[in-house]
Amino acid sequence: MNYRNTEQRNRILEVVQSTTAHPTASSIYDEVRSVIPSISLGTVYRNLSVLEAQGFIQKISCGDAEERYDATTEPHIHYYCKSCNSVSDVHDNRADERLNKLVSDLDANVSSHSLVCYGKCSKCESKVN
Ligand SMILES: [Zn+2]
Ligand SMILES: [Zn+2]
Repeated sequence: MNYRNTEQRNRILEVVQSTTAHPTASSIYDEVRSVIPSISLGTVYRNLSVLEAQGFIQKISCGDAEERYDATTEPHIHYYCKSCNSVSDVHDNRADERLNKLVSDLDANVSSHSLVCYGKCSKCESKVN
């Protein structure tokens, strides 16, 4: 029983680590189900919470959209496309540093922070017109 739980958790972690697409719980569920057909969506959610609490993954909230999961746990900036629902990393070390400095300079005990930019990705932007 315990072994199976560990195996399920490891599979879920592998799925999150295997992609930079910032998958949703339901797409992780679809992937894991191909290996463990008996797994339930509830189990996937539970394990994602445990993995997040253990610091293996981070959960990203994108407004009203479904939450996404990311195996890169250092705070970094995300870009969310409202048109195709894709989430990508914004690679800018200076921006990350400034954001981290801003947060550490705050007169408050910040437990986590995230910055998400919203709009249309270049692929979607070039599709229309
Ligand atoms: Zn897009
Ligand atoms: Zn990310």
